[in-house]
Amino acid sequence: MSTRNVIIIGSGPSGYTAAVYAARANLQPLLFEGSVTAGGALMNTTEVENFPGFRDGIMGPALMDEMRAQAERFGAEMIADDVVEVDLTGDVKVVRTATDTYTARAVILAMGSGYRKLGLPNEDALSGRGVSWCATCDGFFFRDQHIAVVGGGDSAIEEATFLTRFGSKVSLIVRRDELRASKIMQERAFADPKLDIVWNSVVETINGAESLESVTLKDTVTGETRDLDATGLFIAIGHDPRSELLPGQVDLDENGYVLAGHTAGHPSTGTNLPGVFAAGDLVDHHYRQAITAAGTGCAAALDAERFLAELD
Ligand code: FAD
Repeated sequence: MSTRNVIIIGSGPSGYTAAVYAARANLQPLLFEGSVTAGGALMNTTEVENFPGFRDGIMGPALMDEMRAQAERFGAEMIADDVVEVDLTGDVKVVRTATDTYTARAVILAMGSGYRKLGLPNEDALSGRGVSWCATCDGFFFRDQHIAVVGGGDSAIEEATFLTRFGSKVSLIVRRDELRASKIMQERAFADPKLDIVWNSVVETINGAESLESVTLKDTVTGETRDLDATGLFIAIGHDPRSELLPGQVDLDENGYVLAGHTAGHPSTGTNLPGVFAAGDLVDHHYRQAITAAGTGCAAALDAERFLAELD
């Protein structure tokens, strides 16, 4: 197989956007979508109301179908398989699936990150139907409802305090009798009249058929259970970048996110390796939105295009 200009790994908003830009730059990109979850994180949700251009909102899977079709229209090639190994250190980058080997002069890493789950039955089934991992994305849907938030770190408290703008009441479910969050975040939580902290508790079951009806909590000290009549459940127990292919090659931060932005003088999606660029939630653990992922996917394709132009 001949060496490609650019290979993109990942099929979320960042990967597909990179593919649109690279294809329109005539680079004939090859994109690996993954074997199970092509389309990325938004395939697990219902209505997306904050992606610009859709005044009435759009279903997550429909948005991803559009992005994919747009990339294909300009000639991006898609392979619905997982990349299982990479060697990105040389001038020719090597990308392997379980069955084939591909090479390219530039690679865009867009593998995203995964929210940690509670691992309970019904969690996936009610995702987008009361269960959520993103207050910025979904808080608006829970106006005047009782919302539960699970987690005891900074991000859980940030989500919970943000959600008090919408909910009639927010219950923060904390496993222990203290919070892991910073002191300033804790003080903010304690001072919020709409925020109730439920100590020493874990979610035992997520209840509801079509949408969330309640959650059953278990007291971690007494073992007693009780129902909480929340119709929104936000799970804020962390997220993990899908960077397992990269250690030893691409520089990562202490949590496994790709360190990008190595070009002096202007923003960049470049990594420590020439010709290797990274975008989306694989890099960004701060904004974590579809539009920001799409934005950095665009930037990565432009960076790859300039890198290739300098080689030629
Ligand atoms: P992802 O969307 O995570 O896509 C990465 C893709 O790469 C995945 O399909 C994965 O399978 C694939 N991949 C990973 N490793 C490999 C490999 N080795 N080989 C091949 N493929 C691989 N944001 C909003 O702006 N608005 C919302 O309303 C909103 N709602 C959300 C609802 C839910 C339930 C979730 C989970 C997230 C939501 N988000 C929302 C956040 C948004 O989905 C993410 O910020 C965005 O999808 C990140 O895009 P990405 O391209 O970086 O990665």
